[in-house]
Amino acid sequence: MMPLRLDLSSDAPLSVLAIGAHPDDIEIGAGGLLLSLTGKLTRVRYLVLTGTLERHAEARAAARAFAPDAELDITLLDLPEGRFPAAWQRVKDAIEAVARLQAPDLIIAPSAADAHQDHRTIGEIVPTVFRDQLYLAYEIPKWDGDLSRPSVYFPLSDDVAQRKVELLHKCYPSQRGRDWWDDEVFLGLARLRGMECRARYAEAFTCNKLIIR
Ligand SMILES: [Zn+2]
Repeated sequence: MMPLRLDLSSDAPLSVLAIGAHPDDIEIGAGGLLLSLTGKLTRVRYLVLTGTLERHAEARAAARAFAPDAELDITLLDLPEGRFPAAWQRVKDAIEAVARLQAPDLIIAPSAADAHQDHRTIGEIVPTVFRDQLYLAYEIPKWDGDLSRPSVYFPLSDDVAQRKVELLHKCYPSQRGRDWWDDEVFLGLARLRGMECRARYAEAFTCNKLIIR
């Protein structure tokens, strides 16, 4: 299949906005994509909407680990976890505040089809705030079993796939006790998505609109 490439030809850095409801969402959903941009000229803005001080410290370290040479801006908020539909105005305000700072080339954020109410709310709001950006909605494996049919695949090298999982463990020690937090879940999903795009590993996204030039 003919691949479409991210346009990295400009002298200006590729501007990426990564949004997560919770610390670790961005890295689980798109950590391999971020790691693969290492060495490219990128400006990455992280927006994480919930978290305690401990979780925020983890998120900050994770942003630096997954985007090690990017020009990095990190915004960490403490909106009420699990309550985004009721906090809709605050979520929209937070995303609009970021939109006033930056018109990113690429947005990676959760999907409007995600079963988790916080993820889903972000996925519903993002396209109402950003009208002219490439928006790749990442997927997060979870108890609800809401994995859907992706439309965009980003193949990962073996090194990047392994490194992603290593960094997830290293950056998020608070999550290690969760019964789903393990190599098999992360690499298993990446292997399945890789199989679907004829690669060893991949991350998968949904995209409602893109432009071909
Ligand atoms: Zn989450």
